[in-house]
Order: sequence, then C-alpha cells, then structure tokens
Amino acid sequence: MQIRTGVTSVSPENRLGIAYRQEAARLPWTGRIWDAHVHLHDVEAARLFFEVADLFGIERVWSMSPLQHVDEIKDQFGDRVRFIAVPNYKAHSQPGTFTTDWLKRIEGFAAKGVRVCKFWAAPRGRDIHPSLRLDSPTRLEAMHLAKSLGMKFMIHIADPDTWFATHYRDHRRYGRKAEHHKTFERLLDEHHDVTWIAAHLAGDPEHLDRLQDLLDRHPNLYMDTAATKWMVRELSKHPDCFRAFCQRNPGRIIFGSDIVADSDNISFDLLASRYWALRTLLETDYDGPSPIEDPDLRLVDPSLSAGAAPTLRGVRLDPATLATVYHGAVARLHDEP
Ligand SMILES: [Zn+2]
Repeated sequence: MQIRTGVTSVSPENRLGIAYRQEAARLPWTGRIWDAHVHLHDVEAARLFFEVADLFGIERVWSMSPLQHVDEIKDQFGDRVRFIAVPNYKAHSQPGTFTTDWLKRIEGFAAKGVRVCKFWAAPRGRDIHPSLRLDSPTRLEAMHLAKSLGMKFMIHIADPDTWFATHYRDHRRYGRKAEHHKTFERLLDEHHDVTWIAAHLAGDPEHLDRLQDLLDRHPNLYMDTAATKWMVRELSKHPDCFRAFCQRNPGRIIFGSDIVADSDNISFDLLASRYWALRTLLETDYDGPSPIEDPDLRLVDPSLSAGAAPTLRGVRLDPATLATVYHGAVARLHDEP
C-alpha cells in the first residue's frame, strides 16, 4: 500500500507528515470495528477520542475509566462505550487505593453493570504497591469478589522483551517473563470457569509459539492486540506468522488499541496515529517506516537516534479473519449483537 507522506507537519506521533484525517478514509476495511481496550480518563478527553474514533470507523469501545467518571462518559456517549473495572490509579499514593478502596470499587463498577475486571500486574507494579503482584493476597481476594459478581477477568501480565532486557534487568526484583506466565497459568487453571482476556497478546507478541501453547492449554483464554508501538515493532518482525496465528485461533484474538485519552496529555495526532498504525498493520501490505517514534529501540541500541521508529510490515489479514478480530470475537466474548 502507498501512503502520502510529507503532507502535514511532523511530530513524534507523526514522523512522516501523514494527513491522518484523509488517510483514515483510504484504509481498506469498511466493516464494523470494536476496540476492546481503551482508557478514557475523563469526558473532555473522550470527546476528542470519539472524533478520531469516527474517522477510523471505531463504533464501540471498552474503556478502563475511573469509577467517578463512568456516569458522565456514559451520559455523553451512551451505547458507544462499555466499561472495565480499574482501581483509582490517580490516587496511587493513598493508602487503600489498591486494597480496601479497590474492593469497594469492584462492587461499585458491578452495580453499574460492568462485567469485566482488570488486573494490572505489570512487573513495574512492584515499585508502586506490593498488592499489584498477580498473586498477592489482595489480588486473589479481588479475583474471588469479581468472579462472585459475574465478571470476566482482564489481565496485564508482562511487558516487552526490551524492558526485561533493560528496566527489568534485576530479575530478582521483577521476575522473568516466563515466571510471570507460570503464575498466570496457575491462576488460569484455578479460575478455569472464568473468561480471561490477556491484554497485549498476553505480554508476549515476540513469541507467537508460546502464545499458541497458552491458547491450546486454556480454552477460557482470549487475547487483545492492544499497545500500538509494541505490536507494530514486534508483529512486523513476523507478519506471516501473526496472520497464521489469527487464522488458527478464530474468535480468540480481539482488537484493542490501548489508546489513553487523558485531557492532561492528548492530541489529535496521538490518538489518530494509534488507529492509523494498527489498522495499517492488520489490513494492508504496507512495508515502510512506522510514523510513531519508538523509544524502546534506543533503549536496547543506544546508537540509534532519539526519533527512531521500527519498520511497519502489514499483516494483511483476509476479510473473514479481520471481521472476526475487529468485531465478531468481541461481540461473542461479551455476548453483544
Ligand atoms: Zn491498557
């Protein structure tokens, strides 16, 4: 696929000067798209988000919004948004945010009809609060509570290999990716009667063979494609394998962007770049530079320039597989027409 570059001003979200507004209309897919993984932090940010969502054909989203903003976002955007229960991260330094307040919030979300509960267990969570380990006692209590309220579990279990090679080099503190997956599998077995959604391709887009094993061993497991820079960088290294992976696991790979819309840090290009890059990755055979700067490249290779970006190699999923990833799988998972 050819794209028109140098049309508009450049930024870290748009190194190539792509007119995202116009290019959105040139992307091939015209069917429904539901995004199962966004973070709409407040109603102001949600307004710009939905403007961009309209351009890129994103009809409905599942958002990790703070409980106190759920009603106003719902009032404004109604049926276009569903919610996923999360702790009050902005109050991360207050006692109780990840323990007593979190348990109360799970009940609060459930009372508003929310049917998915997110358990964020990134290794760096250990620097924030001890209960953010996947198998901490509070976590396990929260899982039992969420399950009793009929919720599915969404989980963030690991981070990019680039981080394990750098930020997480202290394996005694942060663990290794395989260790995190081991704990995850133990809990998947323990709660085999719950539907699990592993964000960011279970934190391992670098190793599709391991993901296949995970899916084969755990029929209650689904995965989303969220986190644009990470997915573009890693899936572009093996687009043929990822296409085969999606085709082999129909209904279990769901589309997610991980777009964070927060009025303190938001721009049209930031939001548009994520949808442009993810849709270009999944729908086209584009083979060229990604428009988004990726600091992880420099993390592992300091000789690279600050604005370096990976090559984006399109996976070009066939229409039936795209329809499933973009809509069918999410609709079935959440039992929505
Ligand atoms: Zn996220």
